[in-house]
Amino acid sequence: MKVIIIRYSEIHLKGNNREFFESALISNIKAALKGFEYDFSRTNGRYVIRNFDETRLDDITDIVKNVFGVHSLSVAEEIDSDYGEIKRAALLFAPAAGSFKVSTNRADKRFPMPSMKVSAEIGGEILEKHPNLTVDLFNPQNVVNIDIRENGKTFVFSQIIKAVNGMPVGTGGKGIVMLSGGIDSPVAAYMMAKRGMTLRALHFHSFPYTSMQAKQKVLDLAKIIKKYTLHLTVDVVSFTEIQTVIHEKCPEEYMITIMRRFMMRIAERIAKNNNAGAIITGESLGQVASQTLESLTSTNSVATLPVFRPLIGFDKDEIIEISQKIGAFETSILPYEDCCTIFLPKRPVTKPRLSAVEKVESVLDVDALVENALANIETVAID
Ligand code: ATP
Ligand code: MG
Repeated sequence: MKVIIIRYSEIHLKGNNREFFESALISNIKAALKGFEYDFSRTNGRYVIRNFDETRLDDITDIVKNVFGVHSLSVAEEIDSDYGEIKRAALLFAPAAGSFKVSTNRADKRFPMPSMKVSAEIGGEILEKHPNLTVDLFNPQNVVNIDIRENGKTFVFSQIIKAVNGMPVGTGGKGIVMLSGGIDSPVAAYMMAKRGMTLRALHFHSFPYTSMQAKQKVLDLAKIIKKYTLHLTVDVVSFTEIQTVIHEKCPEEYMITIMRRFMMRIAERIAKNNNAGAIITGESLGQVASQTLESLTSTNSVATLPVFRPLIGFDKDEIIEISQKIGAFETSILPYEDCCTIFLPKRPVTKPRLSAVEKVESVLDVDALVENALANIETVAID
């Protein structure tokens, strides 16, 4: 019978937390495979999927290899631990060309042949059927693995499909990711989900200055991110009033600095309302005027929660590479305006002094503006 073996990573390092991590991983795999029929079981530090529709094999492995916490997968034949059966299965996995070796693990000492002997005999059987192959014990191009389990069953497999690794979502606390329509913030979301964070997204739009398509683009990005976060809700907050008031009352070179402080205040309030313990942004040091150390300091100073900036040390090229890998890039580069680009000053301050920023901001009724924004949140559950 064809089965899928799932191996997990890092989790075994966690001692007493192992149960917590494993139950998160299992429920995440099951959530990712929603709609598929299969049997799932847990054995010897790995999971096995059986009785699935074999025509969907590639779909299932593609999904599972993207679940954080999964280290690798193998598609295996599971058979009775019987020499004839093992031989039949091993021949199925014989490579078409090149070098190979057979590697045997005998957990069931009742099996009458020692592992070295199984490898040698099965290797011989493969060579006999495929005389074009060569055996290479030290640096083989292909390995046929035979795993003789305690329960009287044996797994035979050759390919090991690398998965994403990381930590299971749900084991790393909860964060609010500030999601714009750009390239960076979806990547930042992915990076934190990879470390096990449960995410909720926050998007600011400035309707009617920004279009409905701009908002839809962010919801489309959220849908892509949800593949990795498994669950995702987006709070859409109107930023129009705040932007308009800042534009009217503050010197234009401080526009972005002050906007970002409002975004951060609102993010923190939403975090607290949702029991989240961190705020995540897609900022990268020096990328634009609002991402200098002084600008980040000015934004940070209104937050009390930790602000995670997983891309802080990344070049744009590196961010784009991940964006492409996670399937967000094509959507991120669609042209719709972000709320940050309206009323954009020609010469933003690049090194705002905190005292100057606070002075400029003091003409605004900050609390009332924040409350107004929070009073009209549109919450969208991504499915
Ligand atoms: P991105 O590619 O993520 O849009 P960016 O390079 O355009 O980032 P900024 O516009 O300075 O940089 O935004 C920095 C970060 O602030 C973003 O990565 C995002 O986390 C947050 N942010 C910016 N605009 C918005 C918005 N409209 N709604 C929510 N968060 C935003
Ligand atoms: Mg942007």
